[in-house]
Amino acid sequence: MIYWDHAASTPPYDEVIQTMGEVMKQHYGNPSSIHRMGEDAAKLIRRSREVCAQALSVKPDEIIFTSGATEGNNMAIKGAALQYNSRGRHIITTQIEHPSVYDSCLELEKQGYEVTFLPVDQQGCVNLDELAAAVRKDTILVSIMHVNNETGSVQPLLEVGKLVKERNPRTLIHIDGVQGYGKLPVYLNDWQADLYTLSAHKIRGPKGTGILYKRAGIELYPLLSGGKQEAGLRAGTENIAGYVAMSKAMRMAGEHQQVFATEISSLRDKLIYSITKMPGLELNSYCNGAPHIVNVSFPGMKAEVLLHTLEEYGMLVSTKSACSSKTSEPSRVLLAMGRSHDVASSAIRISMGDLNTNDDIQQLLETLKVAVGRLEPLSRKE
Ligand code: PLP
Repeated sequence: MIYWDHAASTPPYDEVIQTMGEVMKQHYGNPSSIHRMGEDAAKLIRRSREVCAQALSVKPDEIIFTSGATEGNNMAIKGAALQYNSRGRHIITTQIEHPSVYDSCLELEKQGYEVTFLPVDQQGCVNLDELAAAVRKDTILVSIMHVNNETGSVQPLLEVGKLVKERNPRTLIHIDGVQGYGKLPVYLNDWQADLYTLSAHKIRGPKGTGILYKRAGIELYPLLSGGKQEAGLRAGTENIAGYVAMSKAMRMAGEHQQVFATEISSLRDKLIYSITKMPGLELNSYCNGAPHIVNVSFPGMKAEVLLHTLEEYGMLVSTKSACSSKTSEPSRVLLAMGRSHDVASSAIRISMGDLNTNDDIQQLLETLKVAVGRLEPLSRKE
């Protein structure tokens, strides 16, 4: 079996698994308790926060631990909308965001906010002139992703930050950084990011943990009521083992980023070079995209059927993102990139990790030829 679904989730590092077990066994005290075991647990959380802050070159009290990026994105977008609604009720995002951003914005629309969903070009990038034209006096937030989870397209965050802050210095910038961290360099200061979300299970950390970076001085309206954990923003007893393990994964993924980018983009380029020789195929990812994602359509074929045929041969790929792969709708992201209904319904995502090799790519290419060859006569009949 070869795993090609790293954009959905990744195999945890051995150190992460070991740490989870050790911390759960030895540090089960509640960090809010004021006895020794509670204090030990609180100390572990403090240390994890420092490690995560260091990985992002920010201050520890700018790090909020969450249950993952879905929570972080909700917290950032809804929290900012509720906190700053006296400044305005306009939000800008893009048509290709992850559902945790996109649907949060739709929810806010229902509550009377105005949302501009910016279109993207054929390569999945926002147009800066359109963004500039959209920023207004009452724009409280721009939420934009670093790397798209379906196609790997990368947004020009440096220019986005500059432009948004020039037009309105009070507009907050939120970046969904889930698919970028550990794959591409992260420059929170240069991007002028005010809020930035991460998820640990995409970087070989544990599931159910993540980070929201919140620049000092920015307030968010808390979505949960209860205890005062995470500076009052996230009530509930902390996932200590998860946070310690996540901090390890963040450090390791950060340290490996350059090597990852070099090695995995060479696998990606090899895959793209060979795959584009297959007839009838349409490529939805580009060599200027993130190193680990290749999205490709086989018009006329049902993506799910191709996925399961590849699975029979031991290749695990995905269709769309993990969060929306169980719906039969064509990919919203690919439609926004101007692809036809057929192209958007026949796309598979191949997402690579640091354990994949040249040999794996060779096997995948051979398997794809066999699987597509098997399905082609059937798709012609339909
Ligand atoms: N944002 C992006 C770009 C993602 O790819 C994902 C996960 O697929 C998320 C947010 C949600 O992350 P989590 O699984 O931690 O909720």
